[in-house]
Formats: sequence, structure tokens, C-alpha cells
Amino acid sequence: MKIGVLALQGAFTEHVSALQKLGVEACQVRLPEQLAGLDALIMPGGESTTISKLMVAFGILEALKARARDGLAIWGTCAGMILLAKEVDDGDLPIMGLMDIRVKRNAFGRQLDSFEADLLVPLLGGEPFHAVFIRAPAVERVSNGVEVLAQLESGPIVAARQGRYLATAFHPELTADLRFHRYFLREVVGTG
Ligand code: GLN
Repeated sequence: MKIGVLALQGAFTEHVSALQKLGVEACQVRLPEQLAGLDALIMPGGESTTISKLMVAFGILEALKARARDGLAIWGTCAGMILLAKEVDDGDLPIMGLMDIRVKRNAFGRQLDSFEADLLVPLLGGEPFHAVFIRAPAVERVSNGVEVLAQLESGPIVAARQGRYLATAFHPELTADLRFHRYFLREVVGTG
């Protein structure tokens, strides 16, 4: 199994090392040709406007959409979740437009409003998941067929799945808890 991590900007090295800890071959992806042979791709957190611009400049936005149509599994964390969505409150951003969710950028305020929360994520078992939110987005709306995986106690949806697509508003790669990475590999990529 080979998992790519989009490595244009943001927290990509942390995703690569989380995958390596799970014994999976992980590689940094910047160019369309590097999508060949991948079983899945992780789009990291960072700055969605920057990542979006670089994706267009490197020609990987369209190439990735085509691979997604062919069945590539994709996990977007934070800025990655924004890029994965079909609808974003900031309408001008070139996005992947793959997942039937509407996302609000900076839903909790600016940098100083970043926070951590112990999330109840039923599919990961009883132990709460310590989640790091950095200028995080939130899912404002999900369509039929999208499974809500986690919500903050105050209501906002912060993790969701639709078939081969997984979206988290927080950063599982910044903590030692590998349960979300394991869930992605086992259940979404489907390697058993
Ligand atoms: N606020 C950022 C954006 O809009 C996302 C922040 C993050 O990825 N940690 O792109």
C-alpha cells in the first residue's frame, strides 16, 4: 500500500511520519505524475488559499480530480477539508469540489481562537480523541450520504465521511493518537 501526502504547504511531514509509524509507505506529492500508483492521498492542514493556488500552478488540482473519479481515497484535514468540499463560504477559491459538504472557513475565529478539545468519536471507541483546532473550519451542512463522525459539544460538525472521502476540521497528525490514521487506512482506503 502506498499513501501520498500533498506536500505543497502546511503540516505534511507530520502526516508522513504518522503513516510511517503505522508501517505504511508514505510519499510526498507535488506533481501530477506522482499520483500514479497511490492507493490514497492525504491533503494536510495549512492555508487553503496558498495550497489551492499551488495546486493550480503545479497542475495537480485537475489531475487529482481525475484520480478521484477513478476511485482514489482522499482525506482532508483542516485546510484539506476546505479543498475537499463541494461548497465553501469563501466562493472564489478553486477547490476539489468532491465531498457533499458545505464548509465555513475560520469558523471559530482567528489564530488566537485556536483551541483543543476532547472529542467523542463513537467509531473510534469510548476513549475521547484529543483534537487540535488551528484557525479551523467547520462543516455547516452535509448532504444525504455523508456520515457525521464527530461534533463539538457546542454543535459544529468537525469530522465526516462520504464513501472514499474523509474530512476532519482538526489536526490528528499533531498528536500521538494514531486512531484516525488507522481508521482512514482500514475503513476508508479499505486495506483490511
Ligand atoms: N484557516 C485555514 C484556511 O482557511 C485553515 C487552517 C488549518 O489548516 N489549520 O485555510
